[in-house]
Amino acid sequence: MSKVLVIGAGGVSSVAVHKMAMNPGIFSHISLASRTKSKCDAIAESVKTRTGQTVDTYEIDAEEIPAMVKLIKQVQPKLIVNLALPYQDLAIMEACLITGVNYLDTANYEPKDVAKFEYHWQWALHDRFRQKGLMALLGSGFDPGVTSVFAMWLKQHKLKNIRLLDILDCNGGDHGQAFETNFNPEINIREVTAPARHWLNGEWVETPAMTIREQFDFEGVGPKNMYLMYHEELESLAKFLPELERARFWMTFGDAYIQHLTVLQNVGMTRIDPVIYNGQEIIPLQFLKAVLPEPASLGPTTRGKTNIGDIATGAALDGSGEKTFYISNICDHEDAYAETGNQAVSYTTGVPAMIGAAMMLTGAWTGEGVFNMEQFDPDPFMAMLNQHGLPWTCKELAGPLEF
Ligand code: NDP
Repeated sequence: MSKVLVIGAGGVSSVAVHKMAMNPGIFSHISLASRTKSKCDAIAESVKTRTGQTVDTYEIDAEEIPAMVKLIKQVQPKLIVNLALPYQDLAIMEACLITGVNYLDTANYEPKDVAKFEYHWQWALHDRFRQKGLMALLGSGFDPGVTSVFAMWLKQHKLKNIRLLDILDCNGGDHGQAFETNFNPEINIREVTAPARHWLNGEWVETPAMTIREQFDFEGVGPKNMYLMYHEELESLAKFLPELERARFWMTFGDAYIQHLTVLQNVGMTRIDPVIYNGQEIIPLQFLKAVLPEPASLGPTTRGKTNIGDIATGAALDGSGEKTFYISNICDHEDAYAETGNQAVSYTTGVPAMIGAAMMLTGAWTGEGVFNMEQFDPDPFMAMLNQHGLPWTCKELAGPLEF
């Protein structure tokens, strides 16, 4: 019996829970808990209609450790899949340590008052998880997540080492809104407005946010402007692939998105420090989130495709000199919506969360302590991507990116 308790009931959770329900041989019982129980109930109802499986639902504030401990004791899961927000990671990990349950998430812990994307808070729990004989798997989404598994697959099958790595994240979808983010707006805007950082010869090079722009022709999407950004998997990749000379992360944004974001930044709406309004403290970015549509509501209107992948250059395993490979997945927003009722950004995160959970529950990936995706055999994960809606292709390029 592999009981799983999923925390959070947004778009990513909805996809992961649907996909778990489609694999009852691995996920024998699914419980879903979040801050707003009605959202859990809506997911459970959709899962029942689409798959016939029953999902138990609960209300929980995951930052309340005693309440989390009580819920875990009641549900008795083998694994907690944290698909709430990065702010809750440490509290949920603590509850796992107290109750002796394994843990998985898709985004590294962030303190609320400063936009920092670093693993050190969670890595610091390694010894405590090890001593308890428990496993925590960090960052099992697409990026972070699949992008690291892609790199490790290339290292296992194509390249002796990876000298240059570029991760390219393109969302070619159009949701018909003037401005909206594709996942939680607060988390997304914190990420996008943070300074860009890339790894170069053993050091981080920092540049102002959204200032380095290049154009790239994405298969299935067409030419798009993409911007150099910092993204959390760069930290784990630099740690687990010490041979990396350069690692960069690029994300596409349309001109309308950039224009809106620039105005919002200029007028102070992306601030994460409190301001007093009508005698009450509010955080402007949280207020902005409240007036934007829920990302989960964009499913019915989003058209187009995502294309996310890695371009890696290094010495070929077969001794044929330096080679460059491009490994990527293309995901269609409308197909994702038809299958689970959610658009492709939620789909490309929720499916790898389900697969990471399956790796842990089936014993394909085992360990005691806190782990990143780079530390495990990529092959079983890559096989499940092909089987569960995120097929990937790998092709050889003439050389690395020219910029
Ligand atoms: P949403 O905002 O749609 O969903 C977040 C959910 O968490 C909501 O249901 C929310 O409840 C719930 N929640 C928030 N605070 C608490 C709390 N204190 N206790 C319990 N539940 C809480 O986000 P997404 O589904 O888009 O994203 C989910 C996660 O996935 C995020 O951490 C995001 O960073 C990560 N992500 C990772 C990606 C990857 O590739 N690795 C890509 C995209 C996202 P309520 O409904 O009440 O607000």
